[in-house]
Order: sequence, then C-alpha cells, then structure tokens
Amino acid sequence: MTRKPTILIVEDEEAIRAGLIDVLLYHGYSAESAKDGDQGLKMALSGQYDLILLDVMLPGLDGFTICERIRQQDREQAIIMLTAKNQDDDIIQGLQLGADDYVSKPFSVAQLVLRIQAVLRRAHIGIETDNLIRLGSDHVIDIRNMSGRLGDRDIVFTRRETDILQYLSANPDRPVSRDELLNKIWGYAKNIDLDTRTVDIHIAKIRRKIEATPSKPEFLLTVRGAGYRLVVE
Ligand code: CA
Repeated sequence: MTRKPTILIVEDEEAIRAGLIDVLLYHGYSAESAKDGDQGLKMALSGQYDLILLDVMLPGLDGFTICERIRQQDREQAIIMLTAKNQDDDIIQGLQLGADDYVSKPFSVAQLVLRIQAVLRRAHIGIETDNLIRLGSDHVIDIRNMSGRLGDRDIVFTRRETDILQYLSANPDRPVSRDELLNKIWGYAKNIDLDTRTVDIHIAKIRRKIEATPSKPEFLLTVRGAGYRLVVE
C-alpha cells in the first residue's frame, strides 16, 4: 500500500462506533465516523474514503437511502453494510442497492477485518509506484495525500481520480484503454458489458483539475482509438 486506507463509519450506537474505530486503527487503517444519516451522507459524498461501513438503522436518513445516494454519484465507492442479525431482507436490499458486501451484527472482529480487506483488495489497484507524479515543470501530484500543487494552486483529488493518475503514471510509454482502466481501477471483469462513459467522466474531472485548458490537454492526452496517456516528467 502506498498510503493508509481511510474508512468512514456511519453508525449511531456509540459503543459500536467507538469499538469499530479502535479495531480499524489497530489494524492500520485511518478511521472517521458519523453518528447519523445526514452527516454520514454528507461525509460519504466527499469522495475521500476508501471504504464506508454503513449501518442500516440510523437517525435521519437510513443506510439504504445513503447507499442509493452514494451510488447515484459514485458507482465505485466501496461500501459494506452493517445489518441486523438474520435480517436477510436487509442483506438483499443492501446488495441490490450496490453495497459491496455486508456484515451481520453482532459481528466478530476477525470476520469484519477479512471483509474489509477483501473489498479494499477488489477496489484498489495492486501496484506500488513512487508517491509523487510530476507533470511539466511545476505540477506535482502526491498520491499518498490525494492532493496536488499545480503552479500556485492546491488541488484535492478523489480516491478514484488518484488511482487513475497513479495507474497512468505507472504506464507512461503507452496509451491505456478504457477497458483496461475499468478492469484495473474499477475491478470490472473484462467480459461484462463495460460502461466506458464512467472512465470518460472521470478523465474529464481530472482534466478540469490539472489542465490549464481542459479541451486542449497538455498532460492527460486522448490517443484516438487507443485510450488515454499521461505525459509525465
Ligand atoms: Ca443503528
């Protein structure tokens, strides 16, 4: 790992919330928490979390609604639902709404950590590169902090944007196809019906952050018929 994964806990029961924070810190993760649905949704939509542990029953918005809202904005956000024991309907509904996995309460710590590791493994690209990407003479992107210093501007990237930049910078000598990005970054199998627009939308968002003129990119280039290439120093 090139940086500590950050996990958001959305859970209203204080004892469980505090216990989860302890467990996650102990296992080397960063953890932040929200104690009701509205705060949880707001934090979740910031795009700054590698994984969200999402309780179903919450004051304010419930976990299902939050899951659905997250998916409307970000289909790649890793989400594990915390469901009540033996509530099969909760589990099915959560997975249908796009959660990656679920853990039933009361859960064992070992079980929870295994699920977290598996979901993060699927969500992350398994490569290690230098933490810094240099574009041109005065653009530096710090992978670990998901931030950049572009000339005199400070920029913050989402995890997905950072993953894309990292993968492209690790393959500087060739264009990377949309299918390859969906496979490596999103973890989609190659034989499913791939929605390549997802990639284009993220590329457009990155260009708005790193390019002086996004319609005429200097760094994140489109190679016609082949994909995208990042021009690194
Ligand atoms: Ca609850």
